[in-house]
Amino acid sequence: MSGLSSTAKWRLAVGAGAVVVLALAGAATPTGLADALSPAPSRASEADALSPAPSRASEADGLSPAPSRVSEADGRVPDGVTLSPFDTEAPAVRNLDPALLAAVRSAAGDARAQGIEMHVTSGWRSKAYQQQLLDKAVGTYGSLEQARRFVNTPEKSAHVAGKAVDLGPTNADYWLIQHGAKYGLCQVYGNEIWHFELRTTPGGTCPALLPDAAG
Ligand SMILES: [Zn+2]
Repeated sequence: MSGLSSTAKWRLAVGAGAVVVLALAGAATPTGLADALSPAPSRASEADALSPAPSRASEADGLSPAPSRVSEADGRVPDGVTLSPFDTEAPAVRNLDPALLAAVRSAAGDARAQGIEMHVTSGWRSKAYQQQLLDKAVGTYGSLEQARRFVNTPEKSAHVAGKAVDLGPTNADYWLIQHGAKYGLCQVYGNEIWHFELRTTPGGTCPALLPDAAG
């Protein structure tokens, strides 16, 4: 074996892998080892240069057709839009059950008098919009079973029937949890402080909370 040419040794090293090459280089000359290691930092900076990848992925998410499949006509409330319960144009508000809308407006007026502004974050929804929300939730939570804890099917959703409204911000939700029964408005699900339905007669008592939309 001692008769191997240096070329043969090189081939042997390549066959055994890069680590052996580095070891041989190191054994030969210390400076050779340093040279062999020097590309490491530039490899790291190449990796840094690749770091925008996740934002590219999120851009791709933004470009997916899902968010644009439904429009405001389906009851979608566009991002950044603050919808008043007194709005008369937006389908999300306009298509609510008249009794529910009247109760919400009455409550919102009284809340406003106490310095609390109430907004509709979601109201009536078309079946297509509800299905899209459910599909999205399945993607987020990993299964239909888990998604159903937060988003109902189009067939079961009270939003599609115009008989449920999601309200915000949080201080308005807590105000309505405390005072809603006066208007017949009740929180329904323990995991959704923002979701209200007419579940009692005005001045009555709200039924016990369901744990979630699947309950
Ligand atoms: Zn809701």
